[in-house]
Amino acid sequence: MALLIDIKHPDWMTDESMREQLLAYYPAADIRVGEAPGPLDEIDMLTVSSYYPGEASKYPNLRLIQKTGAGVNNILADEGLPEAIAVARLETGTSGAEMAEYALAYVLQEQRHMRQYHRQQARSEWRHYPPLQAADTRVAVLGLGRNGQLVARRFIDSGFRVTGWSRSPKRIDGVRCHAGGGELAEALADADYVVAVLPSTAETRGLFDAAQFSKFNPRAFFINLGRGDQVDEAGLIEALDSGLLAGAVLDVMSEEPLPPGSPLWLHPGVQLTPHVSGYHLGDAVADIAENYRRLQNGETLLHLVDRDLGY
Ligand code: NDP
Repeated sequence: MALLIDIKHPDWMTDESMREQLLAYYPAADIRVGEAPGPLDEIDMLTVSSYYPGEASKYPNLRLIQKTGAGVNNILADEGLPEAIAVARLETGTSGAEMAEYALAYVLQEQRHMRQYHRQQARSEWRHYPPLQAADTRVAVLGLGRNGQLVARRFIDSGFRVTGWSRSPKRIDGVRCHAGGGELAEALADADYVVAVLPSTAETRGLFDAAQFSKFNPRAFFINLGRGDQVDEAGLIEALDSGLLAGAVLDVMSEEPLPPGSPLWLHPGVQLTPHVSGYHLGDAVADIAENYRRLQNGETLLHLVDRDLGY
């Protein structure tokens, strides 16, 4: 049986380059690429970055869909996906470290008033502002999974006060932890920056709407690295316009690529990036080859997703 790679983001990684990487780990594997899948009934494992509804139904003997990243919401949104098909994700320290670096970079930009200085430069204006100090600044990290914990750790190591929020209770050194919907307001109340690293699930979709933003610490700064469908974008603009939020950094949008007409593009309080905060897979690619090996040998698979929880 064969593994088919159909990533669908050649600007990020081509199927052929993924194939070469996987063959380096497992030279004997039967690995095919999207353009030349061969007989579809020979495919028992599919590796994707993007997934469209019904895609799995093309492969009658499919047993595993392997995501080349952490978020599996698009795969689980396929209502016709048979229960017998397992879904696995990747856990990559490399992209988690990149997400942490990204969040820290945007926070430091605010702490050191860099956007302000850039604007002043255009007016030849010489005026200083005291830097905001990490020890007096609280960062709330929403989502304390593989990536969220790396983000939280990066802020702790940089001297910030850190709050965390997850679905189930946690104890993490240096993090004031909260859990469950009932404790979200508490997690947000005194945060200067809110960094969301949440999966898209039935519980988190639409979580950040105008009502939720009104519970943020006034003038807090919002950074979303999780999924765009967690944010009601009209509610975000309302919160920015009414001064409830100091600004927002969005790496993920409800529709990607963001349509040219979206008001987010031109809003002065919004900074956008095209879903790049976590980018490189690093040695996590080995886990895709390992899952193929395990699938062929009937062994327990790595990083299986709980389809009921949605992550
Ligand atoms: P994990 O599955 O390891 O962790 C998810 C975290 O979210 C857990 O702490 C979980 O709680 C928490 N969570 C889930 N549902 C809720 C809820 N209803 N209320 C409170 N907390 C909740 O995911 P990762 O950390 O690996 O990644 C998180 C998300 O980041 C991915 O799903 C993906 O969407 C996004 N991502 C974005 C990237 C980018 O480049 N922008 C790159 C990689 C990931 P608990 O611990 O209790 O289970």
